[in-house]
Amino acid sequence: MTLKLCQGPACHTYITKDRLKGPAGSKTYQTRRRSHMYYGKGNFCSMQCYNDWAETFSDRAIDYFGRLTEPKHLTEENAWVKQYDWRQSDQETYYVYVNGITNERRPLTEDQFRDSNYTLNERG
Ligand SMILES: [Zn+2]
Repeated sequence: MTLKLCQGPACHTYITKDRLKGPAGSKTYQTRRRSHMYYGKGNFCSMQCYNDWAETFSDRAIDYFGRLTEPKHLTEENAWVKQYDWRQSDQETYYVYVNGITNERRPLTEDQFRDSNYTLNERG
């Protein structure tokens, strides 16, 4: 089993028993090693470490991958969202696609509602 190191730049500075390692007399607090981590695509042992990374590296990462310089636009063709309504009157659930810009509503079957590949949006 391969252990991954938490990528939090300050992980080793948090004083917890599980981080204290090494032979008696020369113990150090160390970056956590885990087979599985839950935060930031499995790169961080905690939200704290994830946030530490973001605080330290966000600007550099965004500049490297491309900083947004103008707003993106979600157009009518891609503003469809699935919704469902429960109607007390006839004890039925109604599934609909609602366009967030035009407010147009189109009925959906339950299967279409649950199918994550089914979309009216031109780009997913
Ligand atoms: Zn960590």
